[in-house]
Amino acid sequence: MKIVEVKVHPLRTPLDTPFAFSQGWVKARSATIVEVITDEGITGWGEAFAQGLEPPQIAAAVISSALAPLVIGQDPLATEVLWHRMYHASRDYGRKGSVVSGISAIDMALWDIAGKAYSVPVHRLLGGAFRTKVQAYATGFYRISGQGEAKRLGEEAIAHYEAGFRAMKVKLGYGVQDDLTVMREIGRSLAGRGVTLMVDTNHAYGVGDAIRLGYGLAEYNLRWYEEPVAPEHIAGYREVRSRLSMPIAGGENEHTLYGFRDFLGAGAVDIAQPDLGSVGGFTACRHVVALAQAHGVQINPHVWGSAIAQAASLQMIAAVPVAHHSVFAEEPIFEYDRSSHPFRQFLVKEPVTQVDGWVDIPQRPGLGVEVDRAVLDKYRIA
Ligand code: CA
Repeated sequence: MKIVEVKVHPLRTPLDTPFAFSQGWVKARSATIVEVITDEGITGWGEAFAQGLEPPQIAAAVISSALAPLVIGQDPLATEVLWHRMYHASRDYGRKGSVVSGISAIDMALWDIAGKAYSVPVHRLLGGAFRTKVQAYATGFYRISGQGEAKRLGEEAIAHYEAGFRAMKVKLGYGVQDDLTVMREIGRSLAGRGVTLMVDTNHAYGVGDAIRLGYGLAEYNLRWYEEPVAPEHIAGYREVRSRLSMPIAGGENEHTLYGFRDFLGAGAVDIAQPDLGSVGGFTACRHVVALAQAHGVQINPHVWGSAIAQAASLQMIAAVPVAHHSVFAEEPIFEYDRSSHPFRQFLVKEPVTQVDGWVDIPQRPGLGVEVDRAVLDKYRIA
């Protein structure tokens, strides 16, 4: 089997109601979708993660101008070989960011092809399923006007609860006092309901405020505190982690084995959150899983992309071992973003759905997605 073509589909759609996370206003949803076509009629799908503020055209340009020529004519089942080929060829201008996201998209598509070629879901190729279903946590609590939205966010918590979620991640990073007011309101809304909470500031603060916020959150028994400081401030992560009792998480903005070597080697986190669409695909995530095991760090993949990225994340989660084995070990949980996203709802025939807060791991070959080309056509950037 040989790769004969790589097609890239940068997608964008404006949001009716823009929302904010701590780094800015998200006015549109975007994604960079990749289609790898073989001479045997098997097509693989992949996605480069477009961060909330990242134009999808960047990874699209990387894929079409730099990466596609490296894989066309090659054996798509040689996933490890092609990963190294792409990484080494782009090292002098890549290593992080959108270039590695482009590699991620192609790698994801190659694993989809392999699963289809062997008629097994990707998790079987990764070594099998530690679990066949995963608890979903609601990601939400974005801001519409900015600060002072505690009352609305308290009501949002009830909506997630009534939809079946028993774990939720609250977006913070809008000022420590505002954050604490929001958490008090959410805590009041959910009192006595047995909901597990996490928080995510998207690296809004320096070490001092990150720790000050952490002290104020001690009463919520958080499962984790995500991205307390900037991703490149590894010493800051370590200081925050040493001063606070709750688990510290991060890694959605880190890339490859090499980036995670520094991050985990420094003792930055308790929980590492590689995103399949930016860490370097399944191949790189598998490297990072092994590294994390060696450091006693739990892997809990991050996902905020389209239905394709969600499908990839579920396949990876099935195959992630726990870092701290016990009879009642804490299992990884699946990020279920509750904000509006047409590429999640309409791009594939069977989108991810949660029932009572749980999601089944798809057992169809490859990623298990069937893409609706009309949706690609509708949202493709000209
Ligand atoms: Ca995050």
